[in-house]
Formats: sequence, C-alpha cells, structure tokens
Amino acid sequence: MIFVMFYSFSMKAYKRIVIKIGTNVLAGDRGELDEARIGHLVNEVATLMQQGTEVILITSGAVAAGRSQLKPDVKLDTVSARQLWSAIGQVKLMNTYTEQFKKHGIICAQVLTTKENFSDRRHYLNMKNCITTMLENKVLPIVNENDTISVSELMFTDNDELSGLISSMMACQALFILTNVDGIYNGMPGDAHASVIREITAGDNSHEDYISAQKSGFGRGGMHTKYSVARKIALEGTDVIIANGKREGILTGLLRGEDLPSTRFIPNGKKLKGQKKWLAHSESFAKGIVVVNHGAQKALFDINANSLLLIGVVEIQGFFKKGDIIRIQDEQGKQLGLGKSQYDSDEAQKLIGKKAEKPLIYYDYMYLNEASPNPSREGDVM
Ligand code: GLU
Repeated sequence: MIFVMFYSFSMKAYKRIVIKIGTNVLAGDRGELDEARIGHLVNEVATLMQQGTEVILITSGAVAAGRSQLKPDVKLDTVSARQLWSAIGQVKLMNTYTEQFKKHGIICAQVLTTKENFSDRRHYLNMKNCITTMLENKVLPIVNENDTISVSELMFTDNDELSGLISSMMACQALFILTNVDGIYNGMPGDAHASVIREITAGDNSHEDYISAQKSGFGRGGMHTKYSVARKIALEGTDVIIANGKREGILTGLLRGEDLPSTRFIPNGKKLKGQKKWLAHSESFAKGIVVVNHGAQKALFDINANSLLLIGVVEIQGFFKKGDIIRIQDEQGKQLGLGKSQYDSDEAQKLIGKKAEKPLIYYDYMYLNEASPNPSREGDVM
C-alpha cells in the first residue's frame, strides 16, 4: 500500500516545482564546478520543462566556484572572502547554466536575493511577481542568495531555507532538495546498517536523533536544515523529496516512479494562503513577543477561526509598531506562532487583559506552528 502511495505521483502531476541543487552536488573536490554533472542535471530539468512542468531552480555553488578561481594574496576574514568568492563564482555559475540550457533552447534568468527581500509583504509580492513573469515567459528562474551583499546577521541559514521560502511563495507542488547523499538515514553517519528512510510524515519529528548536525564540504547547509525545511513545507501541503543529485537521472527517474533511493515527506494540512504563507517564513523579522494565557491558547487552536484578543494576553515584550510581526508564546515560553500586530507595543501594554475593540492579531494575519488537537480547522495547517 505504501509502495502504491509513494510511487503514484507522476511527472504530469506537478505543474510547478522547485529544484534545489547544493554545492556538494555541483562542485568537485577543489570547489571547481563539475560541468559534466551540471550538464546531466540541465538535461533533466530541460526534459521536465519540455513536458510542461514549470521549474524554479535554486542553486548554490557560487562561493565554491569563486574559491576555485582565486586564492587571495592576503588572508581575508570569512565575510570578505565569502563576498569576494561569491561575486566571482556567481558569474561562472550562471555562465555555465546559460550555456548548457541554451543547447535545449531554454533561456535562464538570474535572481539574486537576500533575506531582507522577504522582510515585508510588499517586497515579498514584488519577488513573487518577478518570478511569475519569468515563468509566464517560459524563462527559467535560477535563484541564489546574494552572498556578495548579504549581511551576516540577516542571511538565510542556507539555500535550503531559501528553497522552502520560494516553493511556498510560488505555490509549487513539489520541492526537490538535491544533495550528495541519498536522503535521511535511520542511523548515525558511518553506521553500516543504516538505510535511507523512504517516507516521513510531515508532522512526525521522531527522526531528529538520526540527523547529523555535521556539514560536509563546501555547502552552508546540513541535513538538519533540510529536515526542518522539508517538514515545514510538507506541513504546508507540498511534496518534498530529498535525493542524491549525483545519481544520474534522479529527477526524471523519481518522477517516472522508479524505485530510486530518496526520502519523501508526505504532506498534510491544507495549503496556507496569502498573508499566512508569508508569515510562516518570517520568524526572523519578529519585533516583539506576546504571551497568551491558556484560554487564549485554546481559542487559537480551536476548530473555529479565532483571532487573538487582548483579554487573553498576559505579557507584551519588546518594542513594535502597528503592522510589525510578533511572536506568540505560551506562559512556559513555547512559541505558538507568529502574527501581524494591530497595535504598537505601548498601546498593547495598556490594554493587556482588557476587552478591546479590535483583536491584537486577526486570524487571517496569524500563522500557528504548533500541532492542534483539532487538525481539521479550515484554512490553516496543523
Ligand atoms: N549561496 C551560497 C553559494 O552560492 C551557498 C549557500 C549554501 O550552501 O546553502 O555558494
């Protein structure tokens, strides 16, 4: 039965997908781009596009490619080195893709972004429109973080995080994270008996112990971010597949239903819409905290759609303006979600525990990240 479920998804089923390719797939031992490998992946992506699937490519490899080209005479600090190498390597990376896709008649477009580009809804929608226009014109968006100008404190954890954000923003039906291992293993690295976990249900966090926090090679990310991004995106109703980008034919093979090793996250929950989707990925922009009592917590996770009222608030922390994102916490300090505040922090302080005209956070401007005892609530993902 599981077999049937797993292999029932077919190429035609996906209208739009994100494919994220990690540095360790694209780069050789010295960081140089592996053109043959890129060529294989390009062939695969081209096949998918020719069959009508819209693809957004998230690619790493700029820093590694830059590093393989230039050894600075003087020792640089980490930030300067990253900026320099990414600036050099990004050109090489895009040239390689452009040349390879040209053979298939596909035009590529470079999208360089920073976390700040997602900090408010206006920027977010701007980014969404830009990628939509590319897709409408059959142009392949190739996205990377702009490491040359990214400020360390406000960087994506890695391109895995960026790929999750883009797949959610662009309402993709699947996210493929290609790395240099076959998926998530049910044992510690080096354990000869460990095997790839083929399916993980989005809400299930029981695999955390197996996941190595280790990073390998040149990439920034590790399996830990892949796992948490994958779970989060699957909880938003999207298929996520972690697979080995070094295996030839992996994408088309998986999509044809071949029995290839990979870890697939089974989505559950309903797709998030509009503001909720943006909020789900905006945790790092939160300016303050609202602590709610048990009654309010119950109301938030109720089967009915409830806004957060000030009567259920016990504490306000931090300074924020009306419209800023704030974290919602329970009295034990556990984060329940995020929302857009309808008050500034001074006003909210004064109204703690009181009946006020309007809620602190409207239901439609709230994202809850905690599993609810009532999983069927309309419009939200539990
Ligand atoms: N943006 C970085 C690059 O192009 C990679 C970040 C990551 O490893 O996720 O090299």
